[in-house]
Amino acid sequence: MDAIVLGGGLMGSAAAYFLARRGVKTTLIERGRVGTGATIASFGNIRRTGRYLPQLPLAHRSRALWGEAEKMLGRDVEFRATGHVRLAFDQAAVADMRRYIEAARPWGLDLEELGPREIGGRFPGLGPEALGASFSPRDGCGNPRLIATAFADAARRLGATIVEEAPAGEIGRTGAGFEVSTPKGTFAAECLLNTAGAWGGRLAANFGEAVPIFPNGPQMGVTEPLPHRVLPVVGMWVHGGGPDGYLRQVERGNIVFGGGVERVAVDLDPGFAKPDPARLPVQLRVLVRLLPALATASVIRTWSGCEGYVADKLPVMGASATTPGLFHAFGFSGHGFQLGPGVGDVMAELIATGHTDTPLADFRIDRFAGNAASVNGG
Ligand SMILES: Cc1cc2nc3c(=O)[nH]c(=O)nc-3n(C[C@H](O)[C@H](O)[C@H](O)COP(=O)(O)OP(=O)(O)OC[C@H]3O[C@@H](n4cnc5c(N)ncnc54)[C@H](O)[C@@H]3O)c2cc1C
Repeated sequence: MDAIVLGGGLMGSAAAYFLARRGVKTTLIERGRVGTGATIASFGNIRRTGRYLPQLPLAHRSRALWGEAEKMLGRDVEFRATGHVRLAFDQAAVADMRRYIEAARPWGLDLEELGPREIGGRFPGLGPEALGASFSPRDGCGNPRLIATAFADAARRLGATIVEEAPAGEIGRTGAGFEVSTPKGTFAAECLLNTAGAWGGRLAANFGEAVPIFPNGPQMGVTEPLPHRVLPVVGMWVHGGGPDGYLRQVERGNIVFGGGVERVAVDLDPGFAKPDPARLPVQLRVLVRLLPALATASVIRTWSGCEGYVADKLPVMGASATTPGLFHAFGFSGHGFQLGPGVGDVMAELIATGHTDTPLADFRIDRFAGNAASVNGG
């Protein structure tokens, strides 16, 4: 069996690795360099708290793979199980948090509830005004600049072909499968996996599968290095979908942060998402509630990245509903970094065996069929 994986972000590179590990002859095609789409821009949060509950089996599978990443990929991708703490600042947020803690338990996610005194005792300097928090001890973070290339290099060692600087143009059907034209040649295979991220909707539309997906850029920033004292990844429970905020301190001392402001629309051509430094004061006002020490820190860089957000905020995963041999895994709506290794493993399993026990039904592409308003957002 052979497969083309189109799009070399975290999803595509992980899928290429797991396909090669299953003995599938694999070609990964990336229009730029591996990992330089949404993946490299990620905050790096490996968080299960707050996820859509039926997505937790996939998230657990992925969390287990993050734990094995260094051994599996032969290098440190800076996965650290620092824990993830999420603070609540009003009673409505505390009630949401408690409901989620209860609901997540049967799905295999055990979150601890902390009161204000425990927050202060365990995480000095964090959220002095918080009324409560959830704590997920086995979650944490990874390095978004390392993971996709680590998967691609490991896939190459297993025999996969990695083709960079090769934007896919025309995609044709052949008697045996698919043919993908690129400036570096034409590649053919029996199966095609669409891991083109924010651009994945275009590819799906070519096969008559319209998905309401919109390219957006979340705004991120990083401070100067500060004395190291924040261990876990820190987030916020917000009732009613207001601006949340999140931060983590990297080992060198810089605080990386995101959230607190709306995402901005991005044009898919060329797909560069720009941060707006003028929005920084608004963002920081949200974030100082999590860590008051931020008030006197200097921000040294801001950035964004082009991510595909699907209308229902869930990804598209599984077999095509129109075209045998075509598979999709795109539109991770701002939460794909944690899921990446699991997505690669599950998609490889599905392609190689025709089956997976990890539930994907809620992510099927034909959930939008019949929705006349479905568009491929631009
Ligand atoms: C700023 C930011 C912060 C984030 N923070 C987090 C976080 O903390 N935790 C979390 O879980 N998630 C986070 N996310 C989301 C996460 O980063 C993404 O869901 C994930 O990286 C998506 O990976 P991907 O492989 O689907 O997409 P991408 O990394 O975008 O990869 C898709 C690739 O397809 C390629 N491509 C497109 N069209 C073609 C073509 N025609 N031919 C060849 N190649 C093509 C692109 O060049 C690109 O490299 C964040 C996203 C952003 C933007």
